[in-house]
Amino acid sequence: MQIQDRATHFREKEKNGVVYLQADNIPFPHGFSTRAGGVSRAEHLFSLNLGYGRGDEAGTVDENYRRFLGAVFGKGDLSFCAMAPQVHSARIFYADRGGLYPEGDGFYTDRPDVILTVKVADCLPILLADPEKKRIAALHAGWRGTAAGIALKGVAALVGMGSDPESIVAAIGPSIGVCCYEVDDAFYQAVAHERGEAFAASHIVRRAEPAGSAERLYADLAGMNAALLRQAGVPAEKILLPEHCTACEPERFFSHRASGGRRGTMAAAISL
Ligand SMILES: [Zn+2]
Repeated sequence: MQIQDRATHFREKEKNGVVYLQADNIPFPHGFSTRAGGVSRAEHLFSLNLGYGRGDEAGTVDENYRRFLGAVFGKGDLSFCAMAPQVHSARIFYADRGGLYPEGDGFYTDRPDVILTVKVADCLPILLADPEKKRIAALHAGWRGTAAGIALKGVAALVGMGSDPESIVAAIGPSIGVCCYEVDDAFYQAVAHERGEAFAASHIVRRAEPAGSAERLYADLAGMNAALLRQAGVPAEKILLPEHCTACEPERFFSHRASGGRRGTMAAAISL
């Protein structure tokens, strides 16, 4: 039997040294950053660190944003960016302007003059779009936000504005994969408590690595979020799953796990 290639993928783009990924299925300007193309000099922040307070001067991070936004949107203007201090919640905001919002983990909008921005380093950047009615969302989903159902909230926000969930497309960007995301029993119990035993059992697997050693638990956060998106009505074939594990490619992406926490931050950004 011939295995068919999926037609939809992430594509690597490069402009002025900034390397970022775009999802084929998102028909609006957007990008998932990598480590390449910035001005951060410290080894663990090199070079496109988009996280404030991680060791770079604020001006350095500002310059990295200008470069990233310039590459993706053709204009490196930070004032259009909606950003929030992220707290691993399922709280999302309607973005009617750029600027700093209260604590939360995602945005949605139907306005053309805002860039929705979420920051990640192993956590999942999830972009949603309704190509017909021209609405978008950007979500930051770590395990707590995943368990709290931020993916459901994101779809519900667009549906609340009149979108048909069957029209929504989704892309889950570079993030830690089930290959690397080892978790413990407390994690399993917490996910089971929030989303049910069957959900936890189907997305948290046991494996022994190397073969013959004790079994350990590994969580598939992308699988969890894809399941939640489907539960919210997004068709499976419209969900693009990650094609890169941040912890497997620490030279290309910032990874919290792979670096032991001493690392820069990536961003996903989208605008109508
Ligand atoms: Zn991995």
